[in-house]
Amino acid sequence: MFPVLPGSHLPLNNPALEFIKYVCQVLSLDANIVNQVNKLKRDLLRLVDVGEFSENAQFQDPCNSYILPEVICHHCNFCRDLDLCKDPSVAQDGSVLPQWFCSNCQAQYETESIEMALVEALQKKLMSYTLQDLVCTKCKGVKEANMPLYCRCAGDFDLTFSAKSFSEQITVFRNIASHYNMSFLEETIDWLLVMSPHVGQSIH
Ligand SMILES: [Zn+2]
Ligand SMILES: [Zn+2]
Repeated sequence: MFPVLPGSHLPLNNPALEFIKYVCQVLSLDANIVNQVNKLKRDLLRLVDVGEFSENAQFQDPCNSYILPEVICHHCNFCRDLDLCKDPSVAQDGSVLPQWFCSNCQAQYETESIEMALVEALQKKLMSYTLQDLVCTKCKGVKEANMPLYCRCAGDFDLTFSAKSFSEQITVFRNIASHYNMSFLEETIDWLLVMSPHVGQSIH
């Protein structure tokens, strides 16, 4: 019922409710009609039997984002930051693979070089996850020595870059990879999850 796009990350199952949330969110950008929009939203939510203050009624951005910095067009040398989840790509009907286009000269970007940049970014993320500092949950001090199990204040150590946020980023990469048919990126992700299974545990 809902399209699956590279940035999709929410479990969506009620079209009427989502429509109400998005329309009211857009209308609420106009500060002059805030009261009217609030009333409208309250009335509409009543129609679909959802409580005004329930978690389901809160707007959440349905689209993740991954910004690839400094993508250079080989045709006109125009440089820009490309959001691989949100920037429009052409041919999303499934007949042809979607492609990104330069916003300056409309030339097509090479999907292969974007894929290579993503693999590189993924390897950098893996590196910073593996080599990260540990921080004490009690005194917030960074762990200095390698061996101790507990901090000098007797607190536990925890990751600064959590496995959960790392696996969320991997999910975004995987969605982009499957949407744009990037098999090398997909293989790299599969390899990473085999090597560090605890990262994959929080991926759905
Ligand atoms: Zn260009
Ligand atoms: Zn401590």
